[in-house]
Amino acid sequence: LRGVVALDGPSGTGKSSVARRLAAGLGARYLDTGAMYRAVTLAVLRAGVDPADTDRATEVARAAGVVQGTGPDRSTTHLDGEDVGAEIRGPEVTLAVSAVSAVPEVRALVVAQQQRIIADALDEVGGIVVEGRDIGTVVAPDAPLKVYITADAEARARRRAKQDAASGRQVDLGATLADVQRRDAHDSSRAVSPLRAAADAVVLDTTDLDLPGVLAALLELVSD
Ligand code: C5P
Repeated sequence: LRGVVALDGPSGTGKSSVARRLAAGLGARYLDTGAMYRAVTLAVLRAGVDPADTDRATEVARAAGVVQGTGPDRSTTHLDGEDVGAEIRGPEVTLAVSAVSAVPEVRALVVAQQQRIIADALDEVGGIVVEGRDIGTVVAPDAPLKVYITADAEARARRRAKQDAASGRQVDLGATLADVQRRDAHDSSRAVSPLRAAADAVVLDTTDLDLPGVLAALLELVSD
């Protein structure tokens, strides 16, 4: 793969699993941008800062040492030297991440770091699959391939619940659906970089596709 594949869409579409496999299959790097917002959110919570206090949240974000690995088989997240990969998937961070990632100054810091990571990956291996909410619109607007992945909310809640169960977390499908819908509403309505498909993105509805089906569809788009 040469260049950037931008994968955007709401939560629970299976984006992460498929992005990682796509990157591995193409010999490219993989960047999970949501993990970086989650790590900043963990730093904000640990500092005892209310995510609504945007000035203090920005200060914490500026000081936080977030290191996001880009190996497709080892997408690690470190905060100030500590591996926080498991903790950033927990309920406290999931509840607060939309508020923290809606702060414009926080986004500016995180986006700049993401653009540096992408430039390094392009220098080193020539290609990277980047997944998030604003990759095609803000982080990598020149990406030659942009895909917006959707699925209906129930399908996404089921996938998220399955993922949580596989990582040993307690699962309540109703609560998961409510969380998915709350986060989507928040991510889509925020003032800066709202979740939306780039004008030149291919929209891929995965409601009736399984993981191999989504991967096959993406591979076809990459080879077009
Ligand atoms: O992808 P994931 O569900 O881990 O993302 C967590 C949250 O981070 C999203 O709900 C969204 O609020 C935020 N996010 C974002 N921009 C991105 C990636 C994630 O605002 N590029």
